[in-house]
Amino acid sequence: MAKPTGRTRFLGSFVDVLPEPTLPEVAFAGRSNVGKSSAINALIGASVARVAKTPGRTQALNLFVVDEAWIAVDLPGYGYAKVSKDMREGWKGLIEGYLGTRPTLRLVVCLVDPRVPPQEMDTGLLHGLANAGIPTLVVATKIDAFSRTRRADALRTLAAAHRIDPSTLIGFSAHEGIGKDEVMKAIRAAVK
Ligand code: GDP
Repeated sequence: MAKPTGRTRFLGSFVDVLPEPTLPEVAFAGRSNVGKSSAINALIGASVARVAKTPGRTQALNLFVVDEAWIAVDLPGYGYAKVSKDMREGWKGLIEGYLGTRPTLRLVVCLVDPRVPPQEMDTGLLHGLANAGIPTLVVATKIDAFSRTRRADALRTLAAAHRIDPSTLIGFSAHEGIGKDEVMKAIRAAVK
């Protein structure tokens, strides 16, 4: 169980029945191993997202109340190769069910890995969100893996591959704190 960090408290892990919608919500989505836990930790408080890291156990939505003002929703990481088809379908249902029906959802932060070619599941999610008219922020994780001079190029290539406006793509590093302020600014604007 996650420990409260002061301004962030763990609300719970939810599988089918979610708590009544109250505060505005920001969901975090991404492939397994993209750096989602690290990003959530860097953004809203240490170790809150360490709740369920084993692929078989992450079939839940983990909710965290931040500053008593908004709720961070850690969606299960998708695309993990070693799980059964049933489990993958379960994840898809859980993620799509939440995204499609949650009235308090204000923003989806989609985490993508700029070091690998564009992944079908990422593109699918981005298109689905755009078609549904759900505001989306695309964040390229682990940007520290590129030298400073190559970062802008890496972001441009990734934006082109996903056919998104490069100005909406934020380079991020949990390890080096890059892009944190920019992402938090977008979140605050979405939940106010
Ligand atoms: P999750 O499965 O998406 O929750 O990913 P994690 O946050 O657990 O991170 C997966 C792996 O990526 C770990 O080995 C992390 O150390 C690494 N990682 C996460 N964030 C960063 C980052 O900002 N920079 C680098 N270079 N590696 C990172």
